[in-house]
Amino acid sequence: MAKVYGVIIIGSGPSGYTSAIYAARANLSVLMFQGYQVGGQLMTTSDVENYPGFEEGILGPEMMEKFEMQARRFGTEMMAEDVTAVDFSKRPFTVTTDSGDYQAESIIIATGASAKWLGLPSEKHLQGRGVTACATCDGFFFKKKDVIVVGGGDTAMEEATFLTRYVNHVTLIHRRESFRASKIMQDRVQSNPKISVLMNTEIVEVLGDDAVTGVQLRNVQTGAEEKLAVQGVFVAIGHQPNTSLFKGILEMDAAGYIIPKEHTMTNIAGVFAAGDVTDHRYRQAITAAGDGCRAAIDMERWLEDTQGEIVGVENWN
Ligand code: NAP
Repeated sequence: MAKVYGVIIIGSGPSGYTSAIYAARANLSVLMFQGYQVGGQLMTTSDVENYPGFEEGILGPEMMEKFEMQARRFGTEMMAEDVTAVDFSKRPFTVTTDSGDYQAESIIIATGASAKWLGLPSEKHLQGRGVTACATCDGFFFKKKDVIVVGGGDTAMEEATFLTRYVNHVTLIHRRESFRASKIMQDRVQSNPKISVLMNTEIVEVLGDDAVTGVQLRNVQTGAEEKLAVQGVFVAIGHQPNTSLFKGILEMDAAGYIIPKEHTMTNIAGVFAAGDVTDHRYRQAITAAGDGCRAAIDMERWLEDTQGEIVGVENWN
């Protein structure tokens, strides 16, 4: 008979690894599906300077490697595969990947969130060649260049302000005539001489063959179009939680973030969620890690309370 793990963890960011460390140290058998893109969003970040314990800062990928090694040290089994389907209708729960079906008494979902894109073919074509969704990761490569930032929320303000450390000039492009961002962040942008703002404007096309050379812009009120010569396009229009696998199964808010029902447990008893997949507010490595710890503790206590019995999930709702 196939092995039934104590817990399967889906996702390999700070929350996934932290929950693996806690679960494995509690002597549970732990299987983690890391996804094909191991390490989550921090793999595309440069210096992490606000995670306590790394007083000189640490590179995002290096930090994730340390998290992974720590989780492995306590016996977490890891597979760098994406989960393609789940069956949470009965215990043990089943998780399916390209390599087969895997079962566990409990599940921790730590699939995180991803940056949103505008959806233009030219944007996709030039990703990594001047189009990016992370100023912190890539700002350094745009020293003395002209760039645009797209978006009207706090992320766009933050990225525009951050980029002025490197670039010659930032044009902030927003589709409406008022910002969604907090007043203080807007003020920082408005008072920065290296940032100019174009409101009521959308990107029609990113221009360039092998590298970004400009953008085609349209004023949404007048329909007038113009070209702006830039070498970088920073898309900062928000994030979306990676929850498409769980639609119709787990309770989510309108934006698709999982809503935990009791502490970190979802509407299905034995299925827990942690990190950015439940959090559109903080989205920090440290809060995600803390959340992974909470989910592992909740999961251990729940398993203890239910004594690992194989029972129908419906009995536990
Ligand atoms: P957000 O608040 O959802 O803002 C997204 C922005 O992108 C909005 O202005 C939106 O325009 C625009 N947008 C969305 N889709 C678009 C599209 N297809 N084309 C053009 N524009 C589009 O996202 P966020 O800025 O990432 O912030 C998310 C959360 O994190 C917020 O709660 C924010 O306060 C928080 N945050 C805080 C800080 C901080 O305090 N340091 C920093 C970053 C983020 P509309 O306004 O027209 O909808």
